[in-house]
Amino acid sequence: MSKITIAIDGFSSTGKSTVARQLANALEYIYVDSGAMYRAVTLYAIRNKLYDEKDPGLQRLVAQLPEIHLSFVFDPRLGYSEILMNGENVDKEIRRMEVSDRVSQVAVIREIREKLVDIQRDIGKDKGIVMDGRDIGTVVFPDAELKIFITASPDVRARRRYEELLGRGEKVNYEEVLRNIRERDYIDSHREFSPLKKAEDAVEIDNSELDIGEQFDKVLRLAKETIEQSL
Ligand code: C5P
Repeated sequence: MSKITIAIDGFSSTGKSTVARQLANALEYIYVDSGAMYRAVTLYAIRNKLYDEKDPGLQRLVAQLPEIHLSFVFDPRLGYSEILMNGENVDKEIRRMEVSDRVSQVAVIREIREKLVDIQRDIGKDKGIVMDGRDIGTVVFPDAELKIFITASPDVRARRRYEELLGRGEKVNYEEVLRNIRERDYIDSHREFSPLKKAEDAVEIDNSELDIGEQFDKVLRLAKETIEQSL
């Protein structure tokens, strides 16, 4: 059966990765969480003290980009891939608030985006991929056969993210999570390079009122229709 490319974009904490993973498993496609890549670069910057609020261009971090090697390793127990930074599995650490608070500032830098987009295109060159992020349907794979744009109200998203962080044992308060989500939405959609926006040919899904199963059914139906049309 012919394989297609599926781009899933949308605001922070809309549950993009949950549906992207479900879809990749159902279709036996590769799943790539592009946000994890921006988060891993941010973690590298924090650990190496290269994140400097007084230097918005993050020149020291940009100079060290060739030292940062990112890859994904599939964990059969989890049923999805986790990200490795220079060989170390950092998938849990990159989800912490410390990283969330800085990642959007790192993601505005053109050189960083170019490096990560190159890696993303390379992983997706043979199709059969579901990638989620902010610019997948607009910049990374503008020719993707299926583009989905997921939205939900900021309150619904903050509530979900808050519960997820609590579940992982992180001490956070709801207001802090909501503020982070609003701030990332703003920076992501107003940046100069590849701002978050819906691709003209993307199908928009507001999942504020949908549960995970309903959302999955909808997206799987769209994917199967698109695969049939592309035969
Ligand atoms: O998807 P996630 O919330 O983990 O992404 C973290 C951040 O990485 C986003 O808020 C955004 O600033 C950045 N990002 C991006 N382009 C992508 C994926 C993520 O700019 N394709």
